[in-house]
Amino acid sequence: MSNLFRSLPSMDVLLTALAHPELTGPETSAAPDLTALPRPLLRDLTNAFLDQCREAIRTGEITDAAALSTDALLPALTAHVLRAARPHFRRVLNATGVVIHTNLGRSLLAEEATAAVAEACANYSNLEFDLATGERGSRYSHVEELLCKVTGAEAGLVVNNNAAAVLLVLDTLCKGGEVVVSRGQLVEIGGSFRIPEVMEKSGAVLREVGATNRTHLRDYENAITERTVALLKVHTSNYRITGFHKEVLLAELVALGRARNLPVIEDLGSGSFLDFTPWGLSGEPTVREVVADGADVVSFSGDKVLGGPQAGLIVGRREIIARIKRNPLNRALRIDKMTLAALEATLRLYLDPELARRKVPTLRMMTAPADELARRARKLATRLRAALGDAAVIGLASGMSRVGGGSFPERDLPTTLVSVAPAGCSATTLKERLLDVAPPALPLVGRLEDDTFRLDPRTLDDPEFPLVAAALAQALGLPNSPDAARPAAAPGKRAPRAHRTR
Ligand SMILES: *Cc1c(COP(=O)(O)O)cnc(C)c1O
Repeated sequence: MSNLFRSLPSMDVLLTALAHPELTGPETSAAPDLTALPRPLLRDLTNAFLDQCREAIRTGEITDAAALSTDALLPALTAHVLRAARPHFRRVLNATGVVIHTNLGRSLLAEEATAAVAEACANYSNLEFDLATGERGSRYSHVEELLCKVTGAEAGLVVNNNAAAVLLVLDTLCKGGEVVVSRGQLVEIGGSFRIPEVMEKSGAVLREVGATNRTHLRDYENAITERTVALLKVHTSNYRITGFHKEVLLAELVALGRARNLPVIEDLGSGSFLDFTPWGLSGEPTVREVVADGADVVSFSGDKVLGGPQAGLIVGRREIIARIKRNPLNRALRIDKMTLAALEATLRLYLDPELARRKVPTLRMMTAPADELARRARKLATRLRAALGDAAVIGLASGMSRVGGGSFPERDLPTTLVSVAPAGCSATTLKERLLDVAPPALPLVGRLEDDTFRLDPRTLDDPEFPLVAAALAQALGLPNSPDAARPAAAPGKRAPRAHRTR
């Protein structure tokens, strides 16, 4: 055994061997160039790897000196380093078919928007500088005109996200007063954003009216007192009340607000600029319609159906927006320059709705035609059959995608799913392994249906198909995947993980 310990290569020998980039394959976000990693980190990781080797010798897992040569250890060491050095926050493949998947980062930006972000963060800019006067400018000026043009509103402002927008609106207009809201609209968005709790934080007092399923105009009327400061409508974005149900129309609420001199606030949640009726998604008002119906202030998210960056957009009457801009809380909720750049580029695309539909990924995925999805599913299936051989049975099944992000709840989008029935493990096991693949493979998130693992091409891009195949190949333990390259006697608890089905 002491001979075996002596056979272990030294730290320096291993570090030199690691410095050959050809060993680590193509550089991706999951697999950084090892030579570019901080030297102290490489040392720590190599040290930990050597400790694992010594442990494997002690426990008798390694009995052959040949398994301890530099060449023999290098693949496992490389895998160990790649796994440990990859960023914690990283890319995943979304095969769930949920277009606006909040847990997977919501909307993807259009190319125009990512380019604008890169430009804004690598260079100085006129963020708060007025190029016409050479004096201090406002960061809010960059998108206000566009926002007004697209929505028909008089004025607008953007903050960090829609939760911040709601807080800021209520804090500005309603602090200390009563706000009338329907019991059918006291929504929880998830991640513990609840309308009643946000109102409490803003110092506004909630005056609930109506019943869970039905609220009438007279309920609002009867609740108005001298303490009332606003009428609030919250878009029931993530659920639908069906059956015996009544909601007061925005236009009716606006008429009441005008008669009693009270502002009407609408938290629109998702807030879309396009009418999706031609694509089978009806019933959601556009921001322009809500503004035209007379809402005094409307707030919505930048990264839901809009398909832009995380942001909270507020549009409405000029004097109200001016008050909101002056609220000191605004400074704490302000939007950063990268977001602003992405937002302006996204809003610009909406000047031509058809251009936006083609260029904004969220819109493109939401409106993808069923025949195109079927064709892409067949293409993915063909690739997977070639890559996975008899390790899995690949099939096609009709199914449903979702818009997600609390938009168009309970509304299904027909799609064609690729089903994967693994030969050597359960579909549940496959699903778990796909989340823990070794780099350069990317984690793949899909769904289980009818005891098979299913992939929806709607939320995958064609260039991602080879990456999907690579993740599945590795999770199924096929050769040529990084785990399969692991020498049989190589040590390591997590480094690399063996997902063998044989
Ligand atoms: C999503 C949503 C919010 C929160 O928006 P974020 O941009 O996620 O902060 C608030 N209200 C409604 C109705 C929503 O749907």
